[in-house]
Amino acid sequence: MPITSRVGRVLEKGAPEGPRKGLAGWKRSINSHEAFTHDSIDSLGYDWERISNPKIEPRFPFKVYLPQTTEDVIRVVKEVKQLGEKLTIRANGHSSNGLVLNEGGAVMLTEKLGDLIEIDEENLTATVQGGAVSATIDDALAQKNLGLPVIGDHNHVTVGGFASVGGISPASHRFGLFVDNVVELELVNWDGELTKCSRQENSELFHKVLGGLGREGVIATLKLRIIRVDKYSTVLKNHQKHYRKVNDFIKASGNRLRQPGDAQYERGVWINLPMKGGRLLTLGQFSAYHPTSQSPYKARRDKMAYNVLHSLGYVAGKLPDKLDRAVKTAGQLGVIFSPKWATGKNVEFFADKVLDATVGEPARMFIILAPLDEYDELFHKGYQMMLDFRERYGCFSLVSVYVKSIRSAFLAGGGTKNQYSEMMFFNGITDKMTPEILEEVAVALDDLTIEHGAFRYMHTRTSKDPQRLRKIDPNSQYQTPAGDQG
Ligand SMILES: Cc1cc2nc3c(=O)[nH]c(=O)nc-3n(C[C@H](O)[C@H](O)[C@H](O)COP(=O)(O)OP(=O)(O)OC[C@H]3O[C@@H](n4cnc5c(N)ncnc54)[C@H](O)[C@@H]3O)c2cc1C
Repeated sequence: MPITSRVGRVLEKGAPEGPRKGLAGWKRSINSHEAFTHDSIDSLGYDWERISNPKIEPRFPFKVYLPQTTEDVIRVVKEVKQLGEKLTIRANGHSSNGLVLNEGGAVMLTEKLGDLIEIDEENLTATVQGGAVSATIDDALAQKNLGLPVIGDHNHVTVGGFASVGGISPASHRFGLFVDNVVELELVNWDGELTKCSRQENSELFHKVLGGLGREGVIATLKLRIIRVDKYSTVLKNHQKHYRKVNDFIKASGNRLRQPGDAQYERGVWINLPMKGGRLLTLGQFSAYHPTSQSPYKARRDKMAYNVLHSLGYVAGKLPDKLDRAVKTAGQLGVIFSPKWATGKNVEFFADKVLDATVGEPARMFIILAPLDEYDELFHKGYQMMLDFRERYGCFSLVSVYVKSIRSAFLAGGGTKNQYSEMMFFNGITDKMTPEILEEVAVALDDLTIEHGAFRYMHTRTSKDPQRLRKIDPNSQYQTPAGDQG
């Protein structure tokens, strides 16, 4: 018999099961957005696009549903169907591609579908409701020296949202995408029928739902693979390298993404930041976190360094404007010059706790998921493309590229070529950006992606053209091609 513990409704936001040494303090200082709260009714008119365009007009739904149980979800879906309406599913709205907006229509919030239902320690699985926040689940698992293999670097990302887009972490070279770690799920389809599916049972549906952007229905529950790990105490050593020339960065990061050795986590970043007087600050770094012998000295160094970085993140947005910018710059430097010793938890939540994305100048992400053997060329072309747009229109300030390695059966689509890379272009947006230029950037990036047999990460801005979307969406590999539907 598997050893299971039923944990029930312990995961209301920010309320993990009892405190654990080192955990309570970390949770207390966990990043929350300075600029707005997810829990306000006002936020329902936006997705994450508002961070790139603070003046954007809201697109409010007419009706909002707040189910708490699978039975509630079924009731909602049946009611909406009977009324002949379209239902949009919204978790915490971290996507920026219009996926969770339904102006004048009906939106289902997964906010109250947040329970951790069961931990099966023998089979190493955890069953959760679709709206659960992955960081909260991870904290509850940490009480038992367990954890999620792949977790977003941001507190409020939900398991249902992650399962619907993919889910990447600096450990994705070991564990794949979040969707690769979903063992089973329960879906309420648009007729209000509940179906259980997995790789063995109803596998066609299972694969359509994962990375499916909520198109197949509502993910009510998920059974997730978990691992034995101590993310809060075990210290790793950061083998960090810096680069002044972009070609050196591309070559070295490509090699390290392809051959991570025993790195437990790894990631790189290249930044190109215009400075006063027309100068450019260009710099890259790659961090690979390897196992190391444990000692009180290393634990102290981790604690001290991250306390400083987290306090920069904590005060960002709370200070007078000029000082705020200086603090944010210091935070950015903290990302470039990362501490030598770090616990897994500090690696996973590094950028988020140091830099609140909602503070400072508007910014936007565009992400490509590329086969690793296309990495060097695609990085070069994508980066050059962003610089060209900046030159031509002045629409970007900072142009930066964050990279990770992903070994994913989901992306491989049943094939054997499973080595991919994430290239996240994270750019500052100026007031010269217009909807037309944005569409031009999205189309150009989609076309580059298609040219190299890559995918886009669909929660970030893509073009709206159905033909392009079919080619860039990794989930298309699991959909029946149009015309083959019988
Ligand atoms: C600051 C920040 C940090 C981030 N860090 C990471 C990261 O480290 N790694 C990474 O991979 N991504 C990251 N993301 C992106 C994030 O994973 C996506 O935005 C993702 O969509 C999850 O966000 P969400 O839970 O708020 O989902 P939403 O944005 O609300 O929803 C996303 C999609 O999922 C669908 N959906 C949500 N719940 C369900 C459900 N229960 N059933 C069916 N469909 C559902 C929605 O309809 C929509 O199509 C980050 C985003 C931000 C803003």
